[in-house]
Amino acid sequence: MADSNEKLLAELLKKPGNNVCADCGTKNPEWASYNIGIFVCTRCAGVHRSMGAHISKVKHLKLDRWEDSQVTRVREVGNNVARLHYEERVPSCYRRPNQDAPQVLVEQWIRAKYEREEFCHPERQNHYVSGFMEGFLMKRGKEDSKYHPRKFVLSEADDTLKYHVKENKEPKAVLRISELNVAFAPAKTGLQNSLQISFMKDGTTRHLYVYHEDPEVITNWYLAIRCAKLHRLQIAYPGISESELLLQLTRDFAREGYLWKTGPRHSDAYKKRWFTLDGRKLMYHDEPMDAHPKGEIFLGSTMDGFAVKLGVPTGAKDQGFSFTLETPDRSYLLSAQSNDDRTQWMSIIQRVIEKPLTPHDMSIAARLVRKRTASGTMNIFSSVR
Ligand SMILES: [Zn+2]
Repeated sequence: MADSNEKLLAELLKKPGNNVCADCGTKNPEWASYNIGIFVCTRCAGVHRSMGAHISKVKHLKLDRWEDSQVTRVREVGNNVARLHYEERVPSCYRRPNQDAPQVLVEQWIRAKYEREEFCHPERQNHYVSGFMEGFLMKRGKEDSKYHPRKFVLSEADDTLKYHVKENKEPKAVLRISELNVAFAPAKTGLQNSLQISFMKDGTTRHLYVYHEDPEVITNWYLAIRCAKLHRLQIAYPGISESELLLQLTRDFAREGYLWKTGPRHSDAYKKRWFTLDGRKLMYHDEPMDAHPKGEIFLGSTMDGFAVKLGVPTGAKDQGFSFTLETPDRSYLLSAQSNDDRTQWMSIIQRVIEKPLTPHDMSIAARLVRKRTASGTMNIFSSVR
């Protein structure tokens, strides 16, 4: 009977493990895959459906009609038992998605689990755990903003990620894997399968944008960078626990968006800039996908004089939704897009400056240098003290 089956499903949903999505951990899943025997959220159910019914058959817990045998299947399996099987050998460098994870990562995680069964057959993970990877990615040009195919080579042994303009010529750039960050960048690039790779060069940050038409390939590059980083960290810091090292592999940006800021003189006009908060580094750019930030502000701690305050100092021009970021060197007058936008920027900056500095933070601060741009305007990088 449909009615009693609906009640049975509601009971099963309360069992430990079943009350969160089997794939991303989102609370209160509303769907189930009745051949695999798991409960999943709406987003993950969509991915299950896209794999085809030969892999996963999904139904809504309340809106669809359930056969007795289908209910029996999810009762016999359930999220905890399924996890023991499908996630038996997940490499620790793998980024397990949560509800905030980029869509590509969620999709590839689900396909890796049930379609390719990578975590039941570890040899299928060789693409990204072996420490070496090469292939073509489309890379956005620094000047022309068009994408061109470039050959990328990742070597964990050398700690390098290189790319070549001509396949058999010297690399155009050699990046240190241990010093770069990689994040999915669909919102900025407008391309689902895209990555932003950021690294320090000559005292400033450089951003690269790449994509591949195959979502599995781009995810494998992301994972390969994470795995190479983890292995190198494990060798460099044998005393530090793996769970702590995992936090240092890749970072999504804490917040990005347009803010208006004045120049060093508070009488300067407000100019629209794209701000990116990456750990303790607050960067601002002319355009969201610029290769280099126009300026970078290292966010020290409140104990060193960093503060974020509502409004602007008396006498300074207020453009609306304004706030002030005080550093020992300079006060930055900023203007957000709305009251809510301002609240979010202020609270996230506040959280950063309340945290004590780590030795790693200090090394980032030391590498951000003061420099003059070609136009003669000053790029101010605040020092720690
Ligand atoms: Zn989910």
